[in-house]
This record gives sequence, structure tokens and C-alpha cells, in this order.
Amino acid sequence: MTIAIDFDGVIHQYSRGYADGSIYDVPVKGAARFIYDCMFEKGWAVFILSTREPQQIKTWLEQVLFQGKALPFKITILSPETKFWNSKKNLGITNRKIAAHVYIDDRGMRFDGNFDGMLEQLEVLKTWQGK
Ligand SMILES: [Mg+2]
Repeated sequence: MTIAIDFDGVIHQYSRGYADGSIYDVPVKGAARFIYDCMFEKGWAVFILSTREPQQIKTWLEQVLFQGKALPFKITILSPETKFWNSKKNLGITNRKIAAHVYIDDRGMRFDGNFDGMLEQLEVLKTWQGK
């Protein structure tokens, strides 16, 4: 299985929203453990999907999320040609949407094949408020 994880609001706390564009906040509690467990407990391929420049995220992951520790996995910025990410023990980062079985996102809304009621759900979802 391949898991795509959003960055801002899922891994990076993002309490002040985009602000000046820097990655200024602390990690969301449990983020490092969750990523690790996906890769090692479950054996899934994992990549981070964000509109940010991948190198900005890579630096923050190494220095802040993983605190400069030696890691038992690689962190790889995906090439523009990458369409699928099946690499194990290798945390991918991309700013292009590529195939995954699941996308974890703080602003996501699950589509079940039926648009009925979606406008009303969007009205109450309001994940963007205050960000
Ligand atoms: Mg987000």
C-alpha cells in the first residue's frame, strides 16, 4: 500500500497558516511515530504531498521532525517523472499529486461517488477557518 501524507496541518502544526511561507511551527504530536510505523510496522510506501518546495520540507524533516538523528530510512525528493511510489523505507516528498491508495489531509473530504449533500457538508466542514 502507498500512503500520501499532506504536510501543513498534518505533519507541521501550521497554527498560523501560511504566514511568511517558512516552516515555522512544531510537528503535530505523533507525526514522526506515525510515519515510522507506516514504513516499518506496516511495510507501506509513504510519501509527503505538499505544494511547498520539497527541499524546504526535507530540511525541516531532518532537522526538526527527526531532530538530526541518523535514520533507518532515506528521504527522497521525487523526480518529475515519478508516477508511482513503491519504495520501502524511503520517505518520498513531492509537490505533484501522484498515485496513492490513501491521501491523508487535514482539508480533505471523502467522495463516495455521490454529490448529493456535498454542498451542505462543505458548508459545515470549514477546515480553512482561521488559516
Ligand atoms: Mg494541509
